[in-house]
Amino acid sequence: MYHLPDKNGYFGNFGGRFIPETLMPALKELEDAYRTLKEDKDFKKELDYYLKNYAGRPTPLYFARNLSERFKGARIFLKREDLLHTGAHKINNTLGQVLLAKKMGKKRIIAETGAGQHGVATATACAVLGLECVVYMGRKDMERQRVNILKMKLLGAEVRVVDSGSRTLKDAINEAIRDWVTNVRTTYYCLGSVVGPHPYPVMVRDFQSIIGHETRQQIKEIAGRMPDILIACVGGGSNAIGFFYPFLDTKVKLLGVEAGGLGLYSGKHSATLAKGKIGVLHGTMSFVLQDKDGQIMPTHSIAPGLDYPGVGPEHAYLKTSKRVNYTHCRDRDAIHAFKILSETEGIIPALESAHAVYVGICEAKKMSDDNISIINLSGRGDKDLGIMEGVE
Ligand SMILES: *Cc1c(COP(=O)(O)O)cnc(C)c1O
Repeated sequence: MYHLPDKNGYFGNFGGRFIPETLMPALKELEDAYRTLKEDKDFKKELDYYLKNYAGRPTPLYFARNLSERFKGARIFLKREDLLHTGAHKINNTLGQVLLAKKMGKKRIIAETGAGQHGVATATACAVLGLECVVYMGRKDMERQRVNILKMKLLGAEVRVVDSGSRTLKDAINEAIRDWVTNVRTTYYCLGSVVGPHPYPVMVRDFQSIIGHETRQQIKEIAGRMPDILIACVGGGSNAIGFFYPFLDTKVKLLGVEAGGLGLYSGKHSATLAKGKIGVLHGTMSFVLQDKDGQIMPTHSIAPGLDYPGVGPEHAYLKTSKRVNYTHCRDRDAIHAFKILSETEGIIPALESAHAVYVGICEAKKMSDDNISIINLSGRGDKDLGIMEGVE
């Protein structure tokens, strides 16, 4: 049986807590609260209520007949996280964390956001659950994300511009941590993926595992058996681990897809597991894209949500223990898959998800229609139309 992390938050050699001492009490408080509340009937009931009636769970497991027939390989199913409120899986996590914060008696939520998707999902959860919300965002990212900023403001969140450093996500993270250190008694820090110090990676995984739990049940009802392979894109890794986790103790093949950008040898990519080295980023030990001196390298992906130089520690463990395979997909292949899925099925995927769709098609071609492949469609593509207009 798979039962990681250990009590110190380690997945093998990865994970843990690499943080300023001033934050240790806050993380211990969070760990205790989470351990108690995750077994609490009322908490579970309330979270289920919002996931079902507000976010739109369970999401369908859809047989993509046209796509499958076009490539004459495995039967391809899509787990439709794109149909959730706010358009992606991120709401599973923010509803969980914001509700947890509320039960902990916190009044104020802070978050940081790069592409703006996590900021919107956090602001949404705060609006419906009635908590104050502050989102930190680098000025450079803000210029690229006007719609998401408008949304956050409409949802009642305060968006704070970060003008230090490179004015992108990593500087926004620094500002958010500074805020947390200062206001730790009243404030909860809502992280957007399975990254950061313990207990965030395990907690976010648990909140996202609903994706895999539903999938297991649904494929059993539809096909009467286990799938042969599951495929998901990996940025920080939350949709992938949520999808994979309930299958870790089966024989189902699991395949994570990182952002190959312009190609792994171009230096312009975000394929952390493929090209990173072991190191500490944002409070956790994992693979990190860094240069010889340990400086974080600039990353690139056409998909805003995959553009991150780190990856969750559990993926680092699953890679080195070989339970999960990881590959990558280049920008141009993701664009290709984006168009194919739109045309064949009438589903416009998020560019992040299109990475998984591309690899899913390649894998399906190697199999026959006796085989079942499931792709996690982590989000919808409305947010990416501006980017796609540019590549046309
Ligand atoms: C944020 C995002 C991702 C990447 O985040 P993970 O934590 O790796 O899941 C993937 N797909 C969509 C649609 C996203 O918004």
